[in-house]
Amino acid sequence: MPERRLFTTDAIVLSRFDYGEADRVLSLLTPGHGKIKVIAKGIRRPTSRLGGSLEPLAELRVALVRGRTFDVVTQVAIVHAWLRLRDSLEATATAWYVAELADRSLEERHPAEPLYALVRRTYELLDAGLAPARAARWYEMRLADELGQRPEVDRCVECDRLVEPEERVRWIPGLGGIVCPRHAGPGHDEAGLSTGALRVLKAYQRMDVEAIAGLRLPPEVEREVEAAMRSFLAYALEREPRSRRFLDEVRATEAARPRFDVTEGTTTDDRRRDERGETGDGASPG
Ligand SMILES: [Zn+2]
Repeated sequence: MPERRLFTTDAIVLSRFDYGEADRVLSLLTPGHGKIKVIAKGIRRPTSRLGGSLEPLAELRVALVRGRTFDVVTQVAIVHAWLRLRDSLEATATAWYVAELADRSLEERHPAEPLYALVRRTYELLDAGLAPARAARWYEMRLADELGQRPEVDRCVECDRLVEPEERVRWIPGLGGIVCPRHAGPGHDEAGLSTGALRVLKAYQRMDVEAIAGLRLPPEVEREVEAAMRSFLAYALEREPRSRRFLDEVRATEAARPRFDVTEGTTTDDRRRDERGETGDGASPG
């Protein structure tokens, strides 16, 4: 039998979904344990003591018991709720995007203090009213750093030559950044990056967030920078595909323990087995 172990941690909810009759499974970002998968049993019942506290867009203090597949939530307190952030649909959607990228970037149970601090800071910025697009780009650039994949915006990634400010470069995420005009070739043609967008990418790497907030940028440059960072992050994260692991794990758990089916994946067979009490040893995660 695995040792039952209680621990408490600060946490931010990265994702969540309903599970079984009244439970909820969540992915939490914590400083000391990185990403952990937890189950909140009975949380969807009106009488649950956990209900209303185990929410996204807040910094939480969570007490857990270590489990085999999921850690089990026993207590939750809200340390800080980013309430102003929740007033804006765009800020809220950006906060979920920030969480999703963090979720996809992290291994389970590996300390992630810098990323925890980065997500918390981004939420603070959104809460303070920073334009969501600026907060998102600022976060993406620092997340790339955390992943050890800082985009190269100064030197050509093909020949290592320092690129002049007015040169027409191409943006090739698969190579890690900009490519100078000497290497134009097949597949490079659609990747042109304007000098304005390159300047802004450099600003996101070098300037503090207050200075970034004050930049006056043409909308088309903001859109170009957004597309550039999105394609870069998509590539950086695809190199270590982790995003489907959560789902795969849940499905594996479901197969092993019919009692804890995922709501969407519940089959009549599962339910019949459940009714007959064929739930193995009846052990719950933890
Ligand atoms: Zn070059």
